[in-house]
Amino acid sequence: MEILKSKERYDVIVVGSGAAGGITSKILTDAGLKIALIEAGPYFDPADPKQQTQFKPTWASPRRGSSVTRRFGDFHMSYGDWKVDGEPYSSKDDTDFMWWRSRMLGGRTNHWGRIASRLGPKDFKCKDFYDLDENWPITYEDIKPYYDKLDKLIGVFGTKENLPNDPDGFFLPPPKPRLHELYYIKGARKSGINVIPSRLSVLTKRINNERGICMFCGQCERSCSVYACFSSSSSLVIPSLKGGLVDLYTDSMVRKVNTDNNGLATGVSFIDKKNGKEYSLRAKVVVLGASSCSSARILLNSKSNAHPNGLGNSSGLIGKYLQDTVGTSKQIFVPELMNRKTYNEDGVGGAHVYTPWWLHDKKLDFPVGYHIETSYRNLGMPQFGVGGYIPNDFNKFFGLRVGGYGEQIRKDVKKYWGSTISLESRGGAIPDINNYCEIDKNKKDIYGIPVLKFNYKWANSELNQAKHAQDIYEELAYNMDGIILGDKPGKEQNYGISTPGSIIHEVGTTRMGNDTNTSVVNKYERLHDVDNVYVVDAGPFVFKGDKNPTWTIMALAWRTSEHIISELKKQNI
Ligand SMILES: Cc1cc2nc3c(=O)[nH]c(=O)nc-3n(C[C@H](O)[C@H](O)[C@H](O)COP(=O)(O)OP(=O)(O)OC[C@H]3O[C@@H](n4cnc5c(N)ncnc54)[C@H](O)[C@@H]3O)c2cc1C
Ligand code: SF4
Repeated sequence: MEILKSKERYDVIVVGSGAAGGITSKILTDAGLKIALIEAGPYFDPADPKQQTQFKPTWASPRRGSSVTRRFGDFHMSYGDWKVDGEPYSSKDDTDFMWWRSRMLGGRTNHWGRIASRLGPKDFKCKDFYDLDENWPITYEDIKPYYDKLDKLIGVFGTKENLPNDPDGFFLPPPKPRLHELYYIKGARKSGINVIPSRLSVLTKRINNERGICMFCGQCERSCSVYACFSSSSSLVIPSLKGGLVDLYTDSMVRKVNTDNNGLATGVSFIDKKNGKEYSLRAKVVVLGASSCSSARILLNSKSNAHPNGLGNSSGLIGKYLQDTVGTSKQIFVPELMNRKTYNEDGVGGAHVYTPWWLHDKKLDFPVGYHIETSYRNLGMPQFGVGGYIPNDFNKFFGLRVGGYGEQIRKDVKKYWGSTISLESRGGAIPDINNYCEIDKNKKDIYGIPVLKFNYKWANSELNQAKHAQDIYEELAYNMDGIILGDKPGKEQNYGISTPGSIIHEVGTTRMGNDTNTSVVNKYERLHDVDNVYVVDAGPFVFKGDKNPTWTIMALAWRTSEHIISELKKQNI
């Protein structure tokens, strides 16, 4: 195939415009560098009325109810989900891995949950504290200044709590708990379980003139047209485009990083999805922020004489140590919350309360803890998709007549609406070399690029963690005078543990370290093998503890961007 070459040589090529690529583009261009930002999906602006789904009533969707066009509901702002047309992936033997991809400017940050957690000091010293195989080569103190800068640039609400492994930041005022959240707090406190205000990247106060303030519509997952919750598209990429230093290539699928005879990167090749042609761009530095598995795929597909196992893969570790969050959930029905007076309880599009891991000093049969997230749309505007609501399930539960329409179903909806609380544990996974993604030798996507094959199994200790969470849900239900809905999952059901990948926190595929034999990138996220290629997504994570990864991805990417600027100035790259 003819490859069309550009004449220009950029300072930096950034691949992917999500959390990682967005912050990298901003920091690099603020320093005056000229960059090419390459994104596999189309242009997306949450404020564009043609693309906006925020504020649309449920009945405006094609079938007024069940999801037709998008997996998490027709108005969920993700172009893509577990399946992307023409871009398959496979799983090895009897394993299963679910891989969510959002092909659009801003990637998954257009609909993420906005839980903006910092990793704690123990999470960086995971070998010392949790007996895992490696510590991070950096400490919390190394990354703290970047978390602080992120809080101030992008905004996060929360409260100072002085918790040992959930460090405080610079917080905007948090919203008050909703009624069901007060029930949760009451139940948790009876068991000595801490509940704190959530830490979400939603603006409850103005931080600049470009972004608005939250008006509590409760629909963050649809992307915010006033830019009040953070997405990389609205808050980083679109503002960066105004400076004239970013050439944005959308609908452009990167195939590989190109290298010269010495094995140094010269740029990337990509397929323009609109015309099917392949192009190559040149740059002094290549930064991959395509999400951890996509970046691993690009590197593994970038074989050359100098890098026969894939770019930067002399250790053979690219794709290895893949980790997703361990999750298990349960719905609790609280009879006292039945027949509620209807009022507007929307709030932000996420829970207002959060339980950080609380049993740091207790000896348990799993090394790493979990936090608990609760449901948020209890009495909010009825939606569909995730958290769908079927009043007949409750009638069945009470042994009442199932079925009905018209007046009967209206009465049932009013009776039960807002009477349940979902609890979801989100726990640390154990880094394991046997959990990995690799290139599937027998499959290509519609652009002719070899796809990924996954191999992932939960360890026994992760199952123990899920069991512990299910026991806690039972205790909390009792404390809230509530009833667990459905059977409690036991050993045969693996305690309801999530399918690997399904919590959408995949990290670890290009892990960071000082030893070139046991890691892929150094502490500045640069490939050990190649001086001018960096990976800024969650690939370099050694471990993520029980924390959601995005705030750490961005803090690390900011730190790496400053390193690149300094290295370019010194003409080291
Ligand atoms: C429903 C949902 C809820 C979530 N909630 C939270 C939460 O509350 N807190 C949290 O911390 N995390 C959450 N996450 C995870 C969070 O979205 C990710 O951690 C974060 O977006 C990862 O950033 P990234 O830049 O690495 O990847 P992405 O945001 O996925 O961006 C990667 C971009 O690269 C592009 N790309 C991929 N391959 C190529 C290629 N070959 N060529 C060119 N471009 C390419 C993609 O199209 C995409 O736009 C959630 C995710 C989902 C789906
Ligand atoms: S809840 Fe607030 S931040 Fe979220 S979409 Fe609505 S207005 Fe925007």
